[in-house]
Amino acid sequence: MEALLSVSFGELFLKGANRKTFFNNALSHIIANIKDIGYENTYVESAKLYIRASEDKFDALIKEIEKVFGIAYIDEVYKVDKNLDDILKATKYVVNKYYSDKDYSFKSQTTRVDKSFEYDSPKLNHLVGDYLLDEFDNLSVDIHNPDFKVYIDIKSNAYIYSKRHKGLGGLPIGSSGQGLLLLSGGIDSPVAGFMMAKRGMKVNAIHFHSYPFTSKQAHQKAEDLAKLMSTYTGPLKFYSVNLSNIYKEIATNCPREETTILSRRFMMRISNEIADKYGYQAFVTGESLGQVASQTLESMSVIEDSSNFPILRPLVAIDKQDIVDLSKEIGTYEKSIEPFDDCCSIFAPDKPVTKPKLKYIERSEGNLDIDRLVKEAIDTIEIIEI
Ligand code: ATP
Ligand code: MG
Repeated sequence: MEALLSVSFGELFLKGANRKTFFNNALSHIIANIKDIGYENTYVESAKLYIRASEDKFDALIKEIEKVFGIAYIDEVYKVDKNLDDILKATKYVVNKYYSDKDYSFKSQTTRVDKSFEYDSPKLNHLVGDYLLDEFDNLSVDIHNPDFKVYIDIKSNAYIYSKRHKGLGGLPIGSSGQGLLLLSGGIDSPVAGFMMAKRGMKVNAIHFHSYPFTSKQAHQKAEDLAKLMSTYTGPLKFYSVNLSNIYKEIATNCPREETTILSRRFMMRISNEIADKYGYQAFVTGESLGQVASQTLESMSVIEDSSNFPILRPLVAIDKQDIVDLSKEIGTYEKSIEPFDDCCSIFAPDKPVTKPKLKYIERSEGNLDIDRLVKEAIDTIEIIEI
């Protein structure tokens, strides 16, 4: 009997036209996440991935595999020869291991991939059920609402398992195009990136800093956040652009209360160029309706006006506390709350406009040489592969 981990993928994923590519993407993402922990090898058998590794590494491996989108379940399975005797013994082993401490109801659930196997699924379910009832006094059968299931997959070998870990769900990365996340150093944007990646988008990140007005640490923090995010999104490009000159020009030539809106519009214009050049199809932000002055409908539409791409805002209807909870779950929260000023906080006006009008914003922009400023900012770009 050999212990293995098996990974099953979501249904949608298996039906798509690009199944093979998505499957391979998910596999390489899993391998990238587990390579530091160590495993022996992997193989694929009828749509499931099997991972050979020593059992004491299972927990650590599962934790990393759980971060890959498109996965329905991760199971701890026991592989035996395809004969009734070995199958029954394996089911007994599984029950002994997990369910010997108190009374339980159970049901057996066979999937017969190898149709030539001598017992069909209902028959094997019965044989296993009767056998376990004989062997264990603490078990009873409940086919509608069992405490646990014993799964038996009949393939080239038999796989017996019961302990199931739910995957993250979602769609495999790459199945929904490529986007550019506007990644600040805050709590919200990494969560927004996570959510779009969960729907299969390949997420890259752009960060705007204002060195030397903002510190090197603030910049490093954004890069660290991108790194933390990458265990979910897979490898990504991290663009960083210096906005300090733009902030200076805004401060000298425009009303102070418009600073945030004006700078956001520059972020969009710069992002337009990057998206054009690298083929990204949409922007992603961490905006949430009403959270701050720049996140009113009026502000959002004035900001959006300077974007040539759809702006996706996965957090738009989510309360701050729920976003915080999510950021704790995905492991970015501690990094996000490190106290380094970003450009928004340094240049933020005391009384920002909450209901900007496009025509007044455009009038203020008339005092700026927009094309030159955008071009000069793009010349400061640094690209880091994460
Ligand atoms: P976050 O927690 O993501 O910083 P926030 O609540 O601080 O968001 P804002 O500062 O209004 O909200 O920013 C709204 C969104 O604009 C951010 O979620 C992010 O997508 C984008 N953004 C803001 N500042 C920057 C920046 N310096 N670089 C890149 N994107 C930014
Ligand atoms: Mg912020």
